[in-house]
Amino acid sequence: MANHKLLLLPGDGIGPEVTGQVEKIVSWFEKQGLGSFSLERGLVGGAAYDAHKQAISEGDMKLAQEADAVLFGAVGGPKWADVPYQHRPEAGLLRLRKDLGLFANLRPAICYPALASASSLKPEVVEGLDILIVRELTGGVYFGEPKEIVTLEDGSKRGVDTQLYTTGEIERICAVAFELARTRRNKVSSAEKHNVMKTGVLWKQTVTAQHARDYKDVELEHVLADNCAMQLVRWPKQYDVIVCDNLFGDILSDVAAMLTGSLGMLPSASLGAEDPATGKRKALYEPVHGSAPDIAGKGLANPIAMIGSFAMALRYSFGAGEAADRLEGAIADVLGAGTRTKDIAAPGANAVSTTEMGDAIVKALEARG
Ligand code: NAD
Repeated sequence: MANHKLLLLPGDGIGPEVTGQVEKIVSWFEKQGLGSFSLERGLVGGAAYDAHKQAISEGDMKLAQEADAVLFGAVGGPKWADVPYQHRPEAGLLRLRKDLGLFANLRPAICYPALASASSLKPEVVEGLDILIVRELTGGVYFGEPKEIVTLEDGSKRGVDTQLYTTGEIERICAVAFELARTRRNKVSSAEKHNVMKTGVLWKQTVTAQHARDYKDVELEHVLADNCAMQLVRWPKQYDVIVCDNLFGDILSDVAAMLTGSLGMLPSASLGAEDPATGKRKALYEPVHGSAPDIAGKGLANPIAMIGSFAMALRYSFGAGEAADRLEGAIADVLGAGTRTKDIAAPGANAVSTTEMGDAIVKALEARG
């Protein structure tokens, strides 16, 4: 059985509490002989600053480079509000993304049947929803140069951001989307704004040519990004995989996220390029939520986003799709039985703690045989 090197970077706030629940699940898979994992542990964010005066140490960066996958909790909190800018907790995550070359951000939006009534949309619109947003993470307007605020002759100012994409950058993110669609319902919706943006024109031309050349078996549709936002709240089940640039992906993935309810439910993955020798990709898995200082240490955090992120690691880094299905099935069983942390419980209803939710998911795994 292959041994998987997993680096745990719990971080700050609720990060360690939710990571602890994943450790129980890892132990369970090992005990059942369903997986073999070498766990390493490191510090990131404020916790790393306290120990090393930097948001991630060189030693932990080396562990991240060597790992098959990194499981990242969350960083930040009021304690580190005044640390020097280059050492702020978020710098640890940005360094990991940059040094590991994580250009593809995968944000699934899955609505568990038991939670359909918790969405702000009608249950029939979201029940059974299972879509995946693939966002380009290292290019586009957040990084393009020039990026500046200049003072004009009359004393007023001009802010400039530059949206910039090359065919290579577009092809590598769209390849990830096409490949993933083949493992799902085989449809890619490419969202851009070719009607008003040159990068949108190039994006559409590039994905069209790539589709004709390499992915004819996958259904491809083009959708304007603003229309995509409307369609996501009108009838999201029309989508399977949506691929888009960094800016539109940032917005569309948050829209999709809220279709399914609480921040405590949302996992994500960030993947790098495939190593031609091993076929492996560098990968970091993390819940979408932050360190939630308001509830940290109180046993109130929902660990499902973190556990779902580990399920994504099983699927995308460890080639263990069946184990991932089983873990996601166990989460659905627990929710189906009515077990809720406070963030997803009906007002006034009983809620379980972080640890109790983790235990319930282990029990549900066991019950699935
Ligand atoms: P947040 O996601 O930490 O919290 C927003 C709200 O959602 C809070 O009320 C919180 O209690 C709740 N919440 C979040 N996760 C939950 C969970 N698992 N279970 C139950 N409730 C949950 O966002 P914020 O309050 O804007 O930021 C807090 C800190 O986290 C800041 O320092 C911010 O910079 C940082 N942050 C870090 C990341 C990251 O590490 N990737 C992402 C976002 C924010």
